[in-house]
Amino acid sequence: MEYDLESAFKQPGCPICTMIKKSMDSYFRWFENESDHLLELLISLSRGGFCRDHAQQVAASVKSDLNYTYAFIIRTRQKEIKQFLQETALIQKKIFPYREKNDPHRELNRIISSEPCPVCDLIQKTGTYGSAMIARKFEDPINRELYRESAGLCWEHCANTLLIAPPEIGLFLLEDHLQRLEDLNREFREFFRKQDYRFDHEPKGKEQTAWVRAMELLNGRPYSF
Ligand SMILES: [Zn+2]
Ligand SMILES: [Zn+2]
Repeated sequence: MEYDLESAFKQPGCPICTMIKKSMDSYFRWFENESDHLLELLISLSRGGFCRDHAQQVAASVKSDLNYTYAFIIRTRQKEIKQFLQETALIQKKIFPYREKNDPHRELNRIISSEPCPVCDLIQKTGTYGSAMIARKFEDPINRELYRESAGLCWEHCANTLLIAPPEIGLFLLEDHLQRLEDLNREFREFFRKQDYRFDHEPKGKEQTAWVRAMELLNGRPYSF
């Protein structure tokens, strides 16, 4: 993973976004090969499953069908709901006395509460790991110089790193981020200058796509690019 971060510095876009994208690609490959066989994974999925976006992404990433996986989830959920209905029917008929532990709402929570989406969980954990790794690596000034050459952290990952970094490293990150904002501002000034009829004959350059770099710095890169 340490190697991943250094190689991520050389990729376009936020290094932590790049790490997350790589982790997701590995997860999808692993899921494609293992999902039919790992009981623990199937049980975990049947207690929550993928969120809306990641269900679609998993379906688009795997080459085989997911009949075994979804059959397990559907059957487990069916069993739990049936069991809930049987238990609450017994309570309503007062076949066994109402006690707090048989509170239907409490039981309902048991079937509704779910484990987090494993891909959302992976994104969160890789992000946390990446921030901790950066905070530690920046103790070495060489790594800070390497970072300056990178596309820089997106604001979300920069903010998360600021929250855990020692003050000296936090200061470095903020000053670096400020410099990146200024670089973009310079590009925007150039863009607007060339909008002026006196200069609009000048060849168009990098400044025309400044907004793309601004968006990536503010919002990061999509993990599905
Ligand atoms: Zn990012
Ligand atoms: Zn998700």
